[in-house]
Amino acid sequence: MADEQKECIFCQIVEGKIPAIKIYEDERSLAFADINPLADGHTLVIPKTHTETLWEITPGDLAAVHQACQKVARGMKEALKAPGITVIQLNGAAANQVVMHYHVHLVPRDRGKDKLKVLEWEAKPGNMRTIEKLAKKITEAI
Ligand code: 5GP
Ligand code: ZN
Repeated sequence: MADEQKECIFCQIVEGKIPAIKIYEDERSLAFADINPLADGHTLVIPKTHTETLWEITPGDLAAVHQACQKVARGMKEALKAPGITVIQLNGAAANQVVMHYHVHLVPRDRGKDKLKVLEWEAKPGNMRTIEKLAKKITEAI
């Protein structure tokens, strides 16, 4: 096992070396409660295999994790009567990813009752020429 995996907190949760409050698991994915919840019920969903980011995860793990997210989200809707669920997924230290094992945050929300600062940005129109130029550049790289 690579050193980065041995030191990875979420790999250790998968292996049962660190305790976690498990919410759901299947062959490829695991959902557990975040210990610093942004709101009641905040859950993390991860692949059981170590992968860091969206551009590295295998298609099979990506599908499994996001199908698990849907199951957990349906459970949250029913159990917590959450009117909304915010999905957050960070990739790379530059995007504020702290735990370098791919994970999806599912945060039950009720906009009237709680605020998530990260989601409150001012909508400022962009330069359409720049928007088009960058979109074309991305398309060409796919
Ligand atoms: P990131 O910024 O990488 O998307 O978020 C990592 C998340 O993992 C944070 O919300 C943090 O609270 C959570 N976290 C970090 N360490 C642990 C842990 O040992 N157990 C659990 N359950 N969550 C953790
Ligand atoms: Zn890991």
